[in-house]
Amino acid sequence: MTTTEIGHYINGEKFAGTRTNTQDVFNPATGAVTGNVDLATTSDVDKAVAAAKAAFPAWSDMPPIRRARLMNNFLNLLNENKDKLARAITAEHGKVFTDARGEVERGIDIVEFACGMPQLLKGYFTDQVSTGIDNWTMRQPLGVVAGVTPFNFPVMVPMWMFPVAIAAGNTFVLKPSPTDPTPSLLYAALMKEAGFPDGVFNVVQGDKVAVDALLEHPDVQAVSFVGSTPIANYIYETGARHGKRVQALGGAKNHMLVMPDADLEKAVDALMGAAYGSAGERCMAISVATLVGDVADKIVPMLKDRLAQLKVKNGVEMDAEMGPIVSKAAHERITGYIAKGVEEGADLIVDGRGFTLEGHEDGYWMGGTLFDNVTRDMTIYKEEIFGPVLACVRVKDFAEGVQLINDHEFGNGVSLFTRDGNAAREFGRKIQVGMVGINVPLPVPMAWHGFGGWKKSLFGDMHAYGEEGVRFYTKQKSLMQRWPESIAKGAEFAMPVAK
Ligand code: NAD
Repeated sequence: MTTTEIGHYINGEKFAGTRTNTQDVFNPATGAVTGNVDLATTSDVDKAVAAAKAAFPAWSDMPPIRRARLMNNFLNLLNENKDKLARAITAEHGKVFTDARGEVERGIDIVEFACGMPQLLKGYFTDQVSTGIDNWTMRQPLGVVAGVTPFNFPVMVPMWMFPVAIAAGNTFVLKPSPTDPTPSLLYAALMKEAGFPDGVFNVVQGDKVAVDALLEHPDVQAVSFVGSTPIANYIYETGARHGKRVQALGGAKNHMLVMPDADLEKAVDALMGAAYGSAGERCMAISVATLVGDVADKIVPMLKDRLAQLKVKNGVEMDAEMGPIVSKAAHERITGYIAKGVEEGADLIVDGRGFTLEGHEDGYWMGGTLFDNVTRDMTIYKEEIFGPVLACVRVKDFAEGVQLINDHEFGNGVSLFTRDGNAAREFGRKIQVGMVGINVPLPVPMAWHGFGGWKKSLFGDMHAYGEEGVRFYTKQKSLMQRWPESIAKGAEFAMPVAK
């Protein structure tokens, strides 16, 4: 089988890189090597940052409406190329095509949001703050900004960042995950076709070397990161040490609290999709079912039956519900967690290990796994597994469920299934989690609301996209102005006050 050499995209063109250090890219469904990605050196990163820096003055000076029109061209091209992008995701990530299409759609939402940037950049104006003086605030772009993104959403997560940053007048360097690098080159080419000037959007493929080069580069003003918590913490600290603005979104352990009054059929549907969709490799995946009272006795057998029917298939097949695990290393990690769960005394109701798919014997396959009687001291409860493993934890009542969730070190997403409006209201107010769903299993906020968790799920204070995203990529300037007639009154040495 032929493999593709995957490189970078700098200053409006493909750049192969030095190819001194490369990494194989796999199709997780077959285990075949399909590509080989160049890992950028520090000087490759310097080249990308220099291109972005050179493009910044003209780009930031362009009227926002003209920038938005180019973003609108990009939006149209993305809509025309949805399937191509989705196929590229499935080929390197493994998630099923219908899910990959959904990812592309959610990325497109943010591009659509970014088309409204002229409105979002509007400042505030106060007439006559003092006699003859007006005061207004405006938001200006930062300069060159960078994004470092995870393997699990190679289209959507970069689009949480660069459309907003670029429409706001910044230029951008993206460092995608080397696990599934191809989609980034597809949308870089679409940005060029849309008419964005060279250097406005650049892609450097790579690993820690490239990330460190961005974190330390004096011309990079801000870094957005999405990935695991230890790396998010590292990015936040290192970026801050180098004087950068940083937002670093980390890992998760998302609970779904199911009340005895909930529609249990619907709760089971929701748990199946949210725990096993995308093979559990979503930062908003539900990995803990927190079951109140006798709910567990009813729901666990229902989940067991449904798992027996889960269609685990090559993601290119239209009826596939779950694809393979992304990599051999991830497969080993998840298998290790399942063994640990058994060792620590959880009840293994369905074991996904040992699943094979005929004709795909070298792929990274696994079925869905279900544990019952998981307790808060167990490793499979405390740590993010990031695979198709659902842990059921039994609690006596609503209050104990809320306490359990609030005690967890992660606080990304959470869901409550109930028919009780008052419980729902209390839950929304008391829960220590950034994104909350009431009878909604995956409450991923829409483009204009912003995405971000609490506690160890986010380092920094601004969420991704939405108005917080615009704030992250711009700095506020306050202007106060008066004109000659009022200046000719002599110097004033006391603190100016309203007159
Ligand atoms: P990861 O942390 O391994 O990698 C993320 C990015 O960091 C990649 O670009 C990678 O090349 C880079 N990186 C890895 N090690 C590094 C190091 N030592 N120094 C500098 N950079 C490094 O994450 P992943 O495995 O690609 O993605 C899965 C993780 O991402 C999960 O923990 C998941 O919860 C999290 N995630 C979080 C969100 C969110 O919004 N909170 C969204 C998606 C994924």
